[in-house]
Amino acid sequence: AKAAGRNTIRFFNPKMQEAASRRAQLETDLHLAIENKQFQLYYQPQVDSDGAVIGSEALIRWNHPERGMVSPLDFISVAEETGQILSIGLWVLEEACQQLKRWEDAGFGALTVAVNVSARQYQHPDFVAAVIEILEKTGVKPGSLNLELTESVLSNNIDDVANKMWQLGAQGIGFALDDFGTGYSSLSYLKKLPLNYLKIDQTFVRDLLTDPNDTAIAQTIIALAQSMSLKVIAEGVETEAQRQRLHEFGCHIYQGYLFGKPVPAEELKLEEFMIQD
Ligand code: C2E
Ligand code: CA
Ligand code: CA
Ligand code: CA
Repeated sequence: AKAAGRNTIRFFNPKMQEAASRRAQLETDLHLAIENKQFQLYYQPQVDSDGAVIGSEALIRWNHPERGMVSPLDFISVAEETGQILSIGLWVLEEACQQLKRWEDAGFGALTVAVNVSARQYQHPDFVAAVIEILEKTGVKPGSLNLELTESVLSNNIDDVANKMWQLGAQGIGFALDDFGTGYSSLSYLKKLPLNYLKIDQTFVRDLLTDPNDTAIAQTIIALAQSMSLKVIAEGVETEAQRQRLHEFGCHIYQGYLFGKPVPAEELKLEEFMIQD
């Protein structure tokens, strides 16, 4: 440890050492995970105002040989730092497209699939070509694929990201701005980017009925989206009362435990979501 004089910070302590070695272990394990096919995609339904499933969001899971199912919250940020997200991300895209093709072949023709894409992936010079290649290889129509990005993707190199989005958008690929309202970016990027959807972050949906600030934020995001001809996806919808309120505000698409948790593809019940009224 560094000599602790006045005005100096001890920057290495046992706790930090432990965290560092845990992180190094995670990096090694992640490398093996790719090789040993320990990743799996779960799918969460997205429904329209009539309760019909219009598609799903693919969410990665890691079936670790000792730790069991590991949440993406525990490894995506490390994979972003190490760059492993590049190969993981390509795997996710291809796997999600292959699954969509299987659903299409089974007669669920008009579904979309949404895939989370991190900043590191957008920054890669071959990103556009890689996405197009995966669509061609899997036979998925570009219009069936939506890419989700967070405001962090836009924090530097916005012109480069915008350029890539326009190229992919011109092919028919859709874009959703994820976790909208939680980042620090200015709203000016909204008019620079070929976005199709805004996703209201679940932190605003959770207390929608009890916290007037969250009510106002959700309502404002929906109004903003409508005035820009974007569709709104509400995430984290857990109760019928939340769904009802969002519907009154003019929300278009809903996602959350009310309709279904993320599940393996074969457990996604695509027929059962029609609301009878
Ligand atoms: P996200 O993209 O915001 O995904 C939504 C998260 O909310 C998912 O967590 C989902 O399981 C959870 N969720 C959905 N409905 C509800 C609900 O009604 N209530 C509550 N409390 N939670 C709900 P998950 O699957 O653990 O993913 C966490 C984050 O990890 C994702 O947040 C996304 O940022 C990241 N992630 C997941 N898969 C991928 C991937 O393939 N690539 C990248 N780059 N990131 C991913
Ligand atoms: Ca997402
Ligand atoms: Ca989100
Ligand atoms: Ca999130």
